[in-house]
Amino acid sequence: MDQELNTDIQFIKGVGPKLGEKFARLGIRTVGDLLDHYPRKYIDYTQAYPISQAPFDIDCCVKAELEKVEPARRIPGGRTLQKALARDDWGFLTITWFNNPYAAKKLVPGETYFFEGRFGGNLTRREVINPLIRTQEEVDRQPLVAVYPATEGLPSSVIGRCVGRVLPLADTLEDPLPEEMRQRFRLPEKSWAVRAIHAPTQPQDVAQARRRLIYEELLTLQLGIFLMRGRSSKATGAPMIGYDPAPFWESLPFSPTQAQRRAAGEIFGDMTGRPPMNRLLQGDVGSGKTLVAAAAVWLAARNGYQSTLMAPTEILARQHAETLDKLLAPFGIAVVLLTGGMKAAEKRNALAAIADGRAGLVVGTHAVISDKVTFSKLGLAVVDEQHRFGVRQRNLLADKAHQPHLLVMSATPIPRTLGLLLYGDLDISILDQLPPGRKPVKTWFITGQKRRDLFGFLDKQIAAGHQAYIVCPAIEENQQDENLQAVTTYLEEVARPLLPHRRIGLMHGKLKPQEKAAVMEEFKEGKLDILVSTTVIEVGVDVPNATVMVIENAERFGLSALHQLRGRVGRGSAAACCILISDNQNDSVRQRLHFLCQTPDGFAVARYDLETRGPGDFFGSAQHGLPSLHIADLATDTRVLSAAQSEAKQILEEDPRLVLPQHQGLADRVERLFESVGPLN
Ligand code: ADP
Ligand code: MG
Repeated sequence: MDQELNTDIQFIKGVGPKLGEKFARLGIRTVGDLLDHYPRKYIDYTQAYPISQAPFDIDCCVKAELEKVEPARRIPGGRTLQKALARDDWGFLTITWFNNPYAAKKLVPGETYFFEGRFGGNLTRREVINPLIRTQEEVDRQPLVAVYPATEGLPSSVIGRCVGRVLPLADTLEDPLPEEMRQRFRLPEKSWAVRAIHAPTQPQDVAQARRRLIYEELLTLQLGIFLMRGRSSKATGAPMIGYDPAPFWESLPFSPTQAQRRAAGEIFGDMTGRPPMNRLLQGDVGSGKTLVAAAAVWLAARNGYQSTLMAPTEILARQHAETLDKLLAPFGIAVVLLTGGMKAAEKRNALAAIADGRAGLVVGTHAVISDKVTFSKLGLAVVDEQHRFGVRQRNLLADKAHQPHLLVMSATPIPRTLGLLLYGDLDISILDQLPPGRKPVKTWFITGQKRRDLFGFLDKQIAAGHQAYIVCPAIEENQQDENLQAVTTYLEEVARPLLPHRRIGLMHGKLKPQEKAAVMEEFKEGKLDILVSTTVIEVGVDVPNATVMVIENAERFGLSALHQLRGRVGRGSAAACCILISDNQNDSVRQRLHFLCQTPDGFAVARYDLETRGPGDFFGSAQHGLPSLHIADLATDTRVLSAAQSEAKQILEEDPRLVLPQHQGLADRVERLFESVGPLN
């Protein structure tokens, strides 16, 4: 039976290699994948509209009597066009078919039909192109029709027809959820749920089936994540003695915030306890996380342990190394930089210092977890801006030493349930306070028409001795979207012509690491007035003299990313602002951007992002290392998620590697779900 589910999609009747490719674009390769491709929503034919009440430009269904069908006509380009007219008491409906000579063949004037599609026209005379048409009898038999996530050349209706052909195979699906569990949660059987989700006979079926499938998916997800996590809570971390941090605090040019003191206290508590620390330090951009990390490094060094701090970009690693060196040098702690872009000789020296213990703190990019790095005595690992690292990379880092203490720092506030999902057993400290004197960054939203004025404003800021960033989303010309401001073109065609007398630099991901560092250095030293950049500057970069952040095509970014970007300015004493530019007319986009203008609080921004765009966008595409889900929604299915979490824990307590026969089905599902993110280790 399994074999049938594994059948290549192109062998289904009516599919073939061409359509097969389109299915592949939706991630559907086998019959089993197709059964897992759940509808996005349903058209309820029992709720059909009269013609005059059909909403404009969304998929809906109208019931009307067919009046007449005109003969098909040939039109230029070898295509055919055919029109028909339908009516009800209050209006007329014009139906147009392109290239569909058979569509009208079986229709009988005088009969009443259901027409589904997107309706245009005006109030009394509507029109629809290539609608789906069903008879009363068909509607009685199947009142709800599934609408599937589709792709170009593969509309929902075609997917629906293919699903219809393979749906009988749903009965061969084995149920991954043990009988006992199903009864406990009163969940219907898998085969019933799959049938019901694709072809429900009543709305309640959909709700039941969804509940069951969401539960299964979240349980699978949670099991997979727990399985990926190597660290056992029974391990012992590097044992440390607690010291009063007063000497460290007193060495600073300012005093730490209350929140920083509290977080450091929690971290010291962990590091002096038996099990290794597993802590997430959350704080809005600019809340001073680096300083807290430095305190932890200080404690590790006092105990004779090395530390490492891993950053997502080379620029950020360099900057951290510099900052931390200033903070730690007074205590004789040597900070060593290790990045992929370093010269061979530099790298050799760094590796030697790490191996013989001279390096007290190693700051680097992914290079830190490479095989070549051997620490002499690693006691603490800090990961900055965690959401860019997958769970697996975190484990690799942990493997560099015998269970070092782990501190994860993130500026993206994560709702508790999601945090649990992503970070499992992490404890959380929150910096809910900004250092004194920091003013919120004023944020505006403008259209491209105002760009010229904006550059006038930039000119004045520069004249006053300040600097600015301009961020564009992509580095190469994008054919599909001519409006997209590619960063190089933007520099040559927009920025330089508008401000010919100013010094403008360019930064993007395709530059070599040394080039990036050089540009950043120039900007820091004030040799550049404006930095036109892609989001490589997104995280962490600190240039206190920069007061304006301009973001082109702002609609392309998640709010959290925009919030991070605006956190790059306002780090000095002068007032700072952020200007979002977008010509996008979409209401929800405009709402989103306006929301950001009014909301300085990063936590509120993240919540909004998560609720309106979902976790995929929230964490930046696929950077979170989570597989994509078919039916569950991490933003809204939080209660089911909690239930699945505790169930997964229990299952793994009984069966840590998921090998018992009653868990075989679940193990298979885990395997399948995580296929897209690589093998589990
Ligand atoms: P983030 O949490 O975004 O990583 P940083 O650690 O980069 O923030 O700190 C932002 C800026 O605030 C830095 O320039 C840092 O020196 C400064 N800073 C940190 N803590 C304090 C404090 N308690 N008082 C004043 N300035 C501080
Ligand atoms: Mg930071």
